[in-house]
Amino acid sequence: MTLLEVRDLHVFYGRIEAIKGVSFTLNEGEIVTLIGANGAGKTTTLRTISGVRTVAEGSIFFEGEDITKMAPHDRVKRGICQAPEGRGIFPGMTVRENLDMGTYVRGDKGPQKAKDLEHVMHLFPRLRERIGQMGGTLSGGEQQMLAIGRALMSKPRLLLLDEPSMGLAPMLIAQIFTIIKEINADGISVLLVEQNATQALKTAHRGYVLETGYVVKTGAGSDLLVDPAVRAAYLGG
Ligand code: ATP
Repeated sequence: MTLLEVRDLHVFYGRIEAIKGVSFTLNEGEIVTLIGANGAGKTTTLRTISGVRTVAEGSIFFEGEDITKMAPHDRVKRGICQAPEGRGIFPGMTVRENLDMGTYVRGDKGPQKAKDLEHVMHLFPRLRERIGQMGGTLSGGEQQMLAIGRALMSKPRLLLLDEPSMGLAPMLIAQIFTIIKEINADGISVLLVEQNATQALKTAHRGYVLETGYVVKTGAGSDLLVDPAVRAAYLGG
């Protein structure tokens, strides 16, 4: 079943057109990745799906429903949740409070919240160790885990991940991609934006290559990984 469909999307910053007619789909249960160079439009596409950027032209469908004009918090209620680039956690709140914020829009309480918290701490044991610590005192990798954990607390059906590997040490990068697969195995679909194209294509079922606001190529992750043009442009030859 098609969970997300983006149809001929156009998005502007002032008079600059950042997204120039992007179309793609994500099926229920899939990990789909958008790869591309700096400025290709990956982040803008993600932010438009979560509803923080407005659509100039085109449509976004979630489970067949047109959500193009839906408010961001209503999209969270429907099950679309983004873990933002640059982490975006609350530095003056504890890890526990940050995770609690993830349940805010849905309003989960009591036993359900405790169960979800336990699940997130099982995925990220580091967060359990740091549960009473201020978010701002965590390392970059831990903040990234916290941002993903907070998104998971909202029980998404579709998790939007913006550059989860950015700024992480190599060992942590491998770990983050393993966790993304675990999250997906739990039944959560994932749209993954990455500059680390090799890891992203190894992790994703399918990928789309973005160049200056256009989709220029699509295919199975494993096929794009061995595609000569993709290798030359994004995988270091
Ligand atoms: P990155 O990996 O660097 O985040 P990206 O593929 O995610 O790159 P976007 O951040 O979506 O690309 O940017 C797409 C285009 O929109 C670029 O040309 C960029 O310069 C422009 N852009 C992004 N944010 C803004 C902004 N706030 N104001 C004006 N132009 C912007």
